[in-house]
Amino acid sequence: MSPEVPQGKLLIFTAPSGAGKTTIVRHLLDRFPQLAFSVSATTRPPRPGEVDGRDYHFLTPKEFARRVAAGEFVEYEEVYPGRYYGTLHSEVHRIWAQDKCVVFDIEVKGASNIKQHYPQDSLAVFVAPPDEETLFQRLRDRSTEDADSLRVRIARAGEELTYRERFDRVLVNDELKTALTEAEGLAGDFLR
Ligand code: ADP
Ligand code: 5GP
Repeated sequence: MSPEVPQGKLLIFTAPSGAGKTTIVRHLLDRFPQLAFSVSATTRPPRPGEVDGRDYHFLTPKEFARRVAAGEFVEYEEVYPGRYYGTLHSEVHRIWAQDKCVVFDIEVKGASNIKQHYPQDSLAVFVAPPDEETLFQRLRDRSTEDADSLRVRIARAGEELTYRERFDRVLVNDELKTALTEAEGLAGDFLR
């Protein structure tokens, strides 16, 4: 990191796919101007409505591999077979240079790695669905995944749910309004 950019804070939201972290993170970004989203890189194709550079940096597998080799990632994972996701050093530094707190929407292994990297200055929140069936139902209702992708995400969720106790806080996302209020409380305390 360039010496003139001091290390700032990191607020991490993690969960299995479908638990509601994107919904919560978007809400907090609207509420707290001190937060800025870490735009991850991924090799998955954009969903309708997703914008390159805003939702993700959409990269070809070759470009992703080049950046891995160049040491550009804080962490990266093959989250689903053949689908890579990673956090770029440049994103974290860009946000700290604006004197803002970095917000992550990231799966459990990447979240653990970031937490280990920055143990003092980060808060890692596990977003828990009320139960597994609700999680799967939300994923189906979101209608973003084809049958194969849905199957892969559901297959991975069981293991991801076992990470629950490894993070600083658990936020149960049952009734959305309650969860958003609780998330605001966590973020407000952390930013103070
Ligand atoms: P993730 O980012 O963890 O994959 P999303 O934020 O995309 O999850 O949420 C998955 C789906 O569930 C979305 O369609 C979202 O609108 C919906 N959702 C999120 N939280 C709730 C909730 N508390 N109750 C009902 N539906 C929810
Ligand atoms: P989606 O395809 O639904 O956008 O994301 C799939 C999973 O990858 C989600 O759990 C999401 O949080 C996670 N993810 C997004 N960005 C990153 C990242 O930079 N690193 C890691 N390890 N996971 C990420």
